Parts: sequence; C-alpha cells; structure tokens
Amino acid sequence: MVLEAGKGTSIEDRGSRLDTRGSFVAAGGRAMITTFKKGGIHPPKGKNLTRDKAVRTLPPPPQVVLPLSQHLGVPCESKVAKGDVVKVGQVIGESPAFVSASIHASIAGKVTNVGPMPNPVLGQAPAVTIESDETDTWVELGPERDWKKLSSEEILGSIRSSGLVGLGGAAFPTHVKLSPPKDKPIKVCILNGAECEPYLTADYRLMVEETDKIITGLAIMMKVLGAEEGYIGVEDDKPEAITLLKKAVAKMNIEVVTLEAKYPQGAEKQLIAAIVGREVPSGGLPMDVGCVVQNVGTAAAITQAVTTRRPLIDRIVTVTGPGIASPQNIRVRSGSSFSFVIDQCGGLKGEPGKVIMGGPMMGIAQASLDVPVIKGTSGILVFPRAEIPPDQPGPCISCGRCLRACPMSLMPSIIGILAENERFEEAKRYNLLDCVECGCCAYVCPARRPMVHLFKYAKAALRK
Ligand code: SF4
Ligand code: SF4
Repeated sequence: MVLEAGKGTSIEDRGSRLDTRGSFVAAGGRAMITTFKKGGIHPPKGKNLTRDKAVRTLPPPPQVVLPLSQHLGVPCESKVAKGDVVKVGQVIGESPAFVSASIHASIAGKVTNVGPMPNPVLGQAPAVTIESDETDTWVELGPERDWKKLSSEEILGSIRSSGLVGLGGAAFPTHVKLSPPKDKPIKVCILNGAECEPYLTADYRLMVEETDKIITGLAIMMKVLGAEEGYIGVEDDKPEAITLLKKAVAKMNIEVVTLEAKYPQGAEKQLIAAIVGREVPSGGLPMDVGCVVQNVGTAAAITQAVTTRRPLIDRIVTVTGPGIASPQNIRVRSGSSFSFVIDQCGGLKGEPGKVIMGGPMMGIAQASLDVPVIKGTSGILVFPRAEIPPDQPGPCISCGRCLRACPMSLMPSIIGILAENERFEEAKRYNLLDCVECGCCAYVCPARRPMVHLFKYAKAALRK
C-alpha cells in the first residue's frame, strides 16, 4: 500500500508521525516511506510485462553503429578509419575535452564506415560502423584490481578511460560528476534506484541480480568524493530489491530508503528532497547542496570499470510494451540496431504506432528502427498503432491540473502559452529553465497540449 501524507492512520496509530517533508516517520526516527512534497503523478505502471524476467544476454550483433557522441558534452573524434580491424574494448572515439566520454568498439571486426548515420537522439550524427568478424576478440584488459588499494585519482582515471556516462538516460560523463569543484564538498552520495518511469524494469532486475556490484559502486563513489553518507532510494513497489539491498548494506554507512512509487520520484531534485530534505536552488545543481546522485546502473558499471577495467560496451535495456511479442530485459552491445534487438525479443506484435527510446514519460519517439542502442538507452518501448490516441491538442482551458502536477512548482500552462507565442524571455522569467521536462503537466492536461515539446523548443531558442 502506498501511504500518502494525511491519508495513513494505521502507522500514526502505532506511534509514527508526519515529518516536515510529508513522510511517515516510524516511532524510532527515519521515514518508513518518503517522497517529495509537491506535485507528481501516478501513471499506469506496465512493469508487470518484464518485472519477473531475468536479464538475458544477447549475442553480439552482425553489425554495430557507434555514434561518436553518446553523452552530454564534447563529441568524440574518430580514432579509426574505414578498413581498420578492431577488437572489442578498443577505443574508437576520443576527445581531449574533460566533459566527454570515450567510445569503445562493442564487437570485433572491420570498420566499414565513418560518417553520418541514423541516431536516436539527434536524428543523424557521425558514427563508426563495424561489421563483425564473429570472433568476439577482446583487447587485453590487464589483471583485476582491489579498488580499496587504489587512490581516488586512479579510480577516476579508470572511470574516465572506461567511457562511463550516467546510465539512467541523461548520459552525463561519470568522471565529471565525480570531480566537483573544491568549493563544493560532497557529503551525500545518493543512488537512484527509484526507476519511476512506467514500463522500465532494467534497474529493478539489476538491483535484484547484481546487488553487491551496486553497493560496491556506491562505496567507490563515496571514497572518491569523500562523502560521509550514502543512500539508495528505491520505490516501495520493488520490495524484493529493497530487502536484498538492505541485507547487503548492513554494517555499512549506507541506508536504503523506501520511496513512494510516484513519478518523477527518480528526478535528481525530487530524490534529494525526499531522502535528505534539501532543496536544490533554482538554476543550481545537486552539488550546491552537497549531494551527488547517480543511477544504480552507473554504480554497477563503476565497479566493473574499476575492478576489471572493462569499458562500457553494453548495457541492460528493457524491451517492452504491447507492441513487442516477447517483452524482456536484455544485456545488449552498444550500437546494436533497434530492429536487431526487437527481433531477438520475438519481433513486433501488430503494426507499430509509436516506438520510444527510454520510458513513456521522458523517452524520445523514434521514426525508424534503424537507430542504434546507445549508452543512454534504458528502454525500447513499442505501442501498436491501435493503442495510440489521436493527437489533437486544443487551447488551454485553465483547469489548473498542470500546476498541481508540476513537481518543480512551476506554472506550465503560462509557460506553454508564452513558448507557443515565441515570448521566450518572458517564459524564462516564469522559470522555464527550472523545468526538468518530466512530462507530468502534459500527462494530466485534458487539452492534450504538447507541453514538453513547447518547453524544449523555448529552451533551444534561448540557447541560440
Ligand atoms: S515538464 Fe516541466 S513544467 Fe511540466 S510538470 Fe515537469 S517540470 Fe513542471
Ligand atoms: S492542464 Fe492543460 S488545459 Fe489545464 S491549465 Fe494546464 S495547460 Fe491548461
């Protein structure tokens, strides 16, 4: 049962109380189920399609297309040319810029093209295409290491050379997030295990199947940052993950925090508010309140990169939705095409109406299945044409639902109208730039207004 502030009686009857964040607090202290205070929605979950399916590792595909920019930051330059022969784990794209993440070959074979290719985020972008020689030959990685014997600099170096980015979808280079400026000391390191997007279960399976790797990743991050407190936030609809994580952190300075299953519980600012009660200021970053937030998948990848030196060449993806014949969680090589992945999951069921990379709330709609899985691909979601409602947006009827749903306390209806009329500076004055593009406002809007599209359009115009 999800407990909402003001609705529970049984816990209070047992001596619990409500804290300042609106969370139920056990008689002994810490909240039993906590959440952020304002806004949020409860969309249908759809997680039952894949929740109980263990991660299956797909075979290497016959071809990969590896975009040279799979992260927020400076794109990489190709280090290979057409005709080169590469091994798995070999660097094929690199940039000297600090805010960038190297790209590694995810299969062994021959480079057949370096140039623009379909891209799930950018439409088209420079990429390296490799055709498999079916040997799956790896570069030499070197012996395994004990992370406790490594210095912070050595750990950061490993993370950087492994090409790690945040695997929750934002794809920000991990070594940068773990290198805050000296005047922003980090006391709190939070792992996001909320996985609040409907349909996605990749993080849940990881928490259940690779619990220790996640905990070790958090401990490594805390060492690098000098953080004193570690937390893992998990929504209360994942009790098995909570139990396993709690057992694994017994006797460590890490706490597993049970969060109300509410979207967008996993957004950085909402997670920080729910877990440590700090408010990231407008225009600020988690480091401004002494926090760093990473996804649980990133934590597991950190453990792998630091201990085994294995670069990021694959990831877990939830392939699901009513338009997929056999929805499942898969571990797949970067650069595999969506069509290869979907074929491996039994193919399409019916005529596809909408294909989304990521979750249904914040994911990116795709026009083609020729795009590759990239580091930030957490899900591939397919809805049949028959299930897509007609897109007929109307004018705002001032119902106020979006105001109540917005977790950032914004006025989405006003910002939307200003963006629509290209009054971008005014939209900025209404705190457009604080919008986290969660889509709660669009979800509740009875006029079906394309709010997030309008906000992205306005933000892009302001950046010019
Ligand atoms: S998309 Fe932006 S404006 Fe809409 S609810 Fe989310 S944060 Fe608020
Ligand atoms: S929910 Fe839609 S119709 Fe209602 S106030 Fe917001 S934008 Fe207007």
